[in-house]
Amino acid sequence: MALLRQDIEKTGTYSFSTQIKDDWKYFNAPDYNYRFNLKNGYFVRWGKTFDDDPPYSRLGPEIADIEISTICKGLSGIHCPYCYKVNTDTGKNMSFDVFKKVIKKINTNNQLTQVAFGLGAAGEENPALWDMCATLREQNIIPNGTVANVTEETAQKIAAHFGACAVSNHFFTAPKGNNLCYDNVKRLIDCGMKQVNIHYILARESLENAFQVLHDIKTDSRLKGLNALVFLSLKAKGRALNNNMHQLKTDEFTNLIRTALSMNISIGFDSCTFPKFSGAIEGLPNRKKLLMMAEGCESFGRFSLYVNVDGQCFPCSFCEHETGWEKGFDLLTTDFMSDVWNSREFENGRKALIKTGGVCPVFDI
Ligand code: SF4
Ligand code: SF4
Repeated sequence: MALLRQDIEKTGTYSFSTQIKDDWKYFNAPDYNYRFNLKNGYFVRWGKTFDDDPPYSRLGPEIADIEISTICKGLSGIHCPYCYKVNTDTGKNMSFDVFKKVIKKINTNNQLTQVAFGLGAAGEENPALWDMCATLREQNIIPNGTVANVTEETAQKIAAHFGACAVSNHFFTAPKGNNLCYDNVKRLIDCGMKQVNIHYILARESLENAFQVLHDIKTDSRLKGLNALVFLSLKAKGRALNNNMHQLKTDEFTNLIRTALSMNISIGFDSCTFPKFSGAIEGLPNRKKLLMMAEGCESFGRFSLYVNVDGQCFPCSFCEHETGWEKGFDLLTTDFMSDVWNSREFENGRKALIKTGGVCPVFDI
């Protein structure tokens, strides 16, 4: 059973500490430890011994996905047909004041390492973004985000504030979409960003272009400094549901992943994709090593958390408004550790995830 913070303090049997040494954040507890490199994002976690793999963090999330804006003007006025958020030109921004309160609540044990901002395509829809980055940096939390088309000025600010930035590839406008994506990758790299990724939604409708992107990574000079191509599983939600988009079949997925690996291209995934990835690398000689770098769904109070623009908290951004999650936990009025992280809802989800090895309990992926 998870210990609540007050139990930990009461019994005095469980002590933990955070330290910053050079570029590293050290977190030490008897059964949960990590090292996080504040400069390059390298992260390693272990339990009582180096061979232990803790199933969850009892002290709060390592990573938070925070939606600070629901405003998105799309690409040249076109809103992505797979946008699960169904964002449009009109939306709202989280205020700086609410953001600070949210961070204070969820970083209760000083355990948070990174925040992934939920932004619009242009990156700067919320004018408080840079103040938010500064307050995170002051607390040794690294801000990251995903954009689609940024100006030179925004790219410079991103390079100065973010640890990593992903550029979404909007395949539905290919080949124009690829060019737009690659131009943005180059813009960010030219501004000095070391960790620039491409985010790519995997769907049957985007499969052919995915092979084109693999080819371009090897041949297009704009992608020379790319960190990784990160594949995201399509969820039947929002516009993707309305537009009747389709998941990849298992053999299509396996073929794509094995092609990328054989081309020696750095790839990544959202944790939703873990079960499919694990199956796709079956029989490969380096499977054990690859699995050590992969993790199943880490939501539901395992290692990550999602907070929406109103300060409502859900296991992950996809769960919002799904059955049972029509309403989230109001972070501003609850005690985070006891009412959210150790809530019955999170405990149940956590148990289910640990049992299945991280298979999504909400969507058929
Ligand atoms: S997927 Fe991203 S870029 Fe596309 S409409 Fe939604 S928020 Fe905007
Ligand atoms: S609950 Fe499902 S959709 Fe949400 S992060 Fe986990 S695997 Fe992905």
